[in-house]
Amino acid sequence: MEVLRKVFRLQSFRPKQLEAICAAMDGRDVFVLFPTGSGKSLTFQIPAVLQTNGVTIVVGPLISLIRDQVDALLKIGVDVVKLGGEQSDRDSQEMSARERLWSADKPRLVYLTPEQLRVPPTKRLLQSLYDRGQLMRFVIDEAHCITDWGRRFRDSYPELADIRKQYPKTPISALTATANAEVERDILCRLDMPNCAQFRLSFNRKNLYYEVRPKRQKKCIEEIAQDIIQHFPGQTGIIYCLSRTSCEDVAKVLREDYGLQAKHYHAKMDNRDRERVQREWSDGKFHIIVATVAFGMGIDKGDVRFVIHYSVPQSLAAYYQETGRAGRDGNPAQCILYYTFNDVRTRIDMIRKEDKSDDEKRWQEDDLWTVARYCMNDVRCRRQQVLAHFGEKFDPAHCNQLCDNCRDTRPTIRVDHSDDAISALRLFESLARLCKRNSGLTKSQLVSALRGSKQKALIDKGFSTDSLYGILKALPQATVERLVDEMLVEGFLGSAQVQVGEYNQTYLKVCVSTQLNC
Ligand code: ADP
Ligand code: MG
Ligand code: ZN
Repeated sequence: MEVLRKVFRLQSFRPKQLEAICAAMDGRDVFVLFPTGSGKSLTFQIPAVLQTNGVTIVVGPLISLIRDQVDALLKIGVDVVKLGGEQSDRDSQEMSARERLWSADKPRLVYLTPEQLRVPPTKRLLQSLYDRGQLMRFVIDEAHCITDWGRRFRDSYPELADIRKQYPKTPISALTATANAEVERDILCRLDMPNCAQFRLSFNRKNLYYEVRPKRQKKCIEEIAQDIIQHFPGQTGIIYCLSRTSCEDVAKVLREDYGLQAKHYHAKMDNRDRERVQREWSDGKFHIIVATVAFGMGIDKGDVRFVIHYSVPQSLAAYYQETGRAGRDGNPAQCILYYTFNDVRTRIDMIRKEDKSDDEKRWQEDDLWTVARYCMNDVRCRRQQVLAHFGEKFDPAHCNQLCDNCRDTRPTIRVDHSDDAISALRLFESLARLCKRNSGLTKSQLVSALRGSKQKALIDKGFSTDSLYGILKALPQATVERLVDEMLVEGFLGSAQVQVGEYNQTYLKVCVSTQLNC
């Protein structure tokens, strides 16, 4: 308590902090799974300050995060050094950091990147500290990076797995805000800490309301504007858009057609403008920021009352982070996602054009399909779905009707559409054979054909002669559309873009043939 108050200038511990600190003080291995912003750092910083007969080594994945933490600690007078990082001041600072570690006047903490552990002078230093019993603890911050899951973040974390072998007597703390059961098991296994003390906090944000709404392209901005005017007059909010241009367009319409205080924010603005917009929004000079995902790092505004996704987020984890910026003050806030399958398509096409490895593209696509499934699932509690992604079992009874699906009182009817899906695939395969080379069937054509449309374009192609033409005409259009979307999401159907004249046309293709096993 004394260190908390005098050194960190904080009043009281947050949930589970003290327990985790005590376990560390007892010299145990510690696993901490708390959401971002809940105060994981304190769980190793306080023991490090208190245990003066050695140093605590903190491994962090990003030099910018290391710098922020080190600067914050120096500001409150905690003796800390960092190894590695910026080229410019590297030599002099690093020399003195190393000298101090060799000397008797040691700092309380050392921050370094995983690469540093491989550098010979650092290895010698750590070994010497270890031999003299002065290595108090290894802290692996953002520990999810150690598993394959961290593949998108960086790839030099896996060698951390040797820490236990090299320094068997030094306890380890692993900290993360991103772990499902598999990731967690992998972290504990790789760091070889089977008997660690484990501390978890729920990721549930009780005061947030979650809803997914169908996005009607032309009407969507109007709907958003009316919603804000009616329910959030003069209140602070964030609208996330996919592209720079849509940020600018949406902000402009909100401003000019509806008189709302909205400004755009994206990575292509020059730095000064961007900082100014962010500052004005933070200071409450205007209320609605229309932004790409570039906006959000380090945002700490408590009174955000709504977060609207004008387009699908890139993953459920990203969605959790982005919506997490709402209601930090604990008061009610709303998170509305406008969903259309077309936006998923657009994102997929963007991913495919990017200059990335095939694996990475596949992971990103998988993440998007997970988002699409979330959006299309109009039955399960939203919290239950999002939290499942973090390995948390959430009982919908605790949602308090703070999501659209829990609020929906209509009885749930289960219908098995497997046979319909098989018929759809069969019809698709035989119609695709009728198409000319370099052309194909679009999603809306397949839906029309399944519903037995009388459209001339389809009749002229001879489609209507197929015995399965119109096989799903008893189902509503929306159901058939959803069935085809689900088949795309689940990978039975795929799609490919083909250049037709000036335009790109997206055609469906078969991924799992009905010949195989249906
Ligand atoms: P995490 O690593 O879990 O994302 P941090 O350790 O960076 O979170 O802490 C997030 C913020 O919460 C910091 O500004 C920190 O000062 C603050 N914080 C941590 N513990 C407490 C506490 N017990 N009381 C008040 N503020 C705290
Ligand atoms: Mg942290
Ligand atoms: Zn719910």
